[in-house]
Amino acid sequence: MKKKVVIIGYGGQGSWHAAQIQKSDVAELLGIYDINPKRSDLAKEKGIFSYDTLDDAINDPASDIVVVVTPNDSHKEIVVKALAAGKNVICEKPAEMSLSALDEMIDASNRSGKLFTIHHNRRWDVDYLGMKQIIQSGKLGDVICVESRIHGSRGIPSDWRGMKEHGGGMLYDWGVHLIDQMLQLIPQKITSVFCTFSHITNKEVDDGFKLTINFESGAVGYVEVGTYNFIAMPRFYMLAKKGSAIITDWKEKAKVVYCKHWYEGDVLPVQAAAGITKTMAPRDEITVDTYEVERPVSDVHDFYRNFCAAIDGREKQIVLHSEIRRVMMVIEAAFKSVQSGNTVEFKDIL
Ligand code: NAD
Repeated sequence: MKKKVVIIGYGGQGSWHAAQIQKSDVAELLGIYDINPKRSDLAKEKGIFSYDTLDDAINDPASDIVVVVTPNDSHKEIVVKALAAGKNVICEKPAEMSLSALDEMIDASNRSGKLFTIHHNRRWDVDYLGMKQIIQSGKLGDVICVESRIHGSRGIPSDWRGMKEHGGGMLYDWGVHLIDQMLQLIPQKITSVFCTFSHITNKEVDDGFKLTINFESGAVGYVEVGTYNFIAMPRFYMLAKKGSAIITDWKEKAKVVYCKHWYEGDVLPVQAAAGITKTMAPRDEITVDTYEVERPVSDVHDFYRNFCAAIDGREKQIVLHSEIRRVMMVIEAAFKSVQSGNTVEFKDIL
């Protein structure tokens, strides 16, 4: 039987969830609640039931799942209420604004015996899945560095995302996705974190950041978000012991260069700008294979399918509490690093 869902917060992302659920094979939409009457009216115009109060929405005896899609600073209060009401809860990223707020939500889930997870939908991004496939195939050997970037040029949105008190800023916004992906791509203990913020269009919150995550083996995860980049850098760039891979954009296939033979005998110097170089001379096909990797196929609705199956005990939850906590720990360490200007040692829980 389909799980019955109530959505709290019918803004941009709340309407995305509603549309997902309306065409779902595992869930059906009972209704929404939004604090802003204009958003409730919009839902009604679309034929979606709108509850009068938050309590009515959360306590609807017919519902199985409450999805929390409000600004970041309001998640904990609503999530804890919904879990106490005996509902399974999907909460939007980043989770909340601190590890302690996240832990309160996890505790509430443990107390109620109901499921709680964060909507890490970008685990279904095909660019990320492409990079994961390349790494996990093992063909390129141990990872040296993965660089993951998202660049836009419109600054930070002028809504609550630009306000500190509501949990604005790009680290909480896009950062949380890219950090979650990075921790899946390099599944090792973290040793330290270093981060810097940009404030080009907003002084209150970061409108971009550069974050280095150092892992136990010496591998480095570099995560960068920019909102003032009129030329975007590649989405993913990866160096491994036996080659390199690049994914320029989420619409593109991955390009891989596999190093068959490290030594290549005498290298002829090449002309490079105002001089010559052997070090930077390009390789030929005797020592490297160059090929493309098809983009994997993915369906983001598998997030809902998994959550509904987990409620029935048929599957394990894909997005685990321990994973959500680690992402939040990296975010907290990144804030500390920005404040101090130093690298922050990381006491990992892995
Ligand atoms: P939004 O401003 O478009 O919508 C938020 C809605 O919540 C508004 O309609 C607002 O009136 C309503 N609201 C505010 N406080 C409320 C309350 N206490 N009770 C009920 N309704 C309330 O913002 P958005 O872009 O939809 O973002 C909402 C959440 O979704 C954020 O946590 C954001 O990080 C997340 N999000 C996730 C993704 C993703 O890909 N996973 C994408 C966008 C946003």
